[in-house]
Amino acid sequence: MIIETYNANETFKLGEEIGRKALPGQVYTLNGDLGVGKTVFTQGVGKGLGIMEPINSPTFTIIQEYEEGRLPFYHFDVYRIGDIEEMEEIGYDDYFFGQGVCLIEWAELIEEILPPDLISITIEKDLEKGFDYRKITITGLEF
Ligand code: ADP
Ligand code: MG
Repeated sequence: MIIETYNANETFKLGEEIGRKALPGQVYTLNGDLGVGKTVFTQGVGKGLGIMEPINSPTFTIIQEYEEGRLPFYHFDVYRIGDIEEMEEIGYDDYFFGQGVCLIEWAELIEEILPPDLISITIEKDLEKGFDYRKITITGLEF
């Protein structure tokens, strides 16, 4: 499925819709260049899950946990990961195979440990269509 957005709010709203429908145990991977809108999308997912506190990229930690929503929400940003060992250290499999919702920014960097069943989201720019245009490709999700 491909969705096109023309401003940040539309990407946020798409995330929100996905957050509203998210199910326990789902793992969402999020790929795309720096500044493409991964965190904007994630903030929408958080709102859709009913999380009121602000969601920002966990820059100094790999994972940020939110327990106040409809389901536990585990937001990973693995951009700065040096070694896959760091994922072992935080006990990632408890999250990936747990009953919350996982969302992983820069998931391509930890490809070898991703579960087989995941929902993949890729966000891309196309400058010919404007600065704020984004093409969002989602696979593995039934709407
Ligand atoms: P990432 O997490 O991928 O590095 P961010 O979500 O932090 O990126 O930042 C995306 C930036 O792009 C924000 O400043 C946002 O306002 C801007 N932006 C412009 N158009 C869009 C769009 N269509 N979707 C998402 N973000 C957009
Ligand atoms: Mg980000």
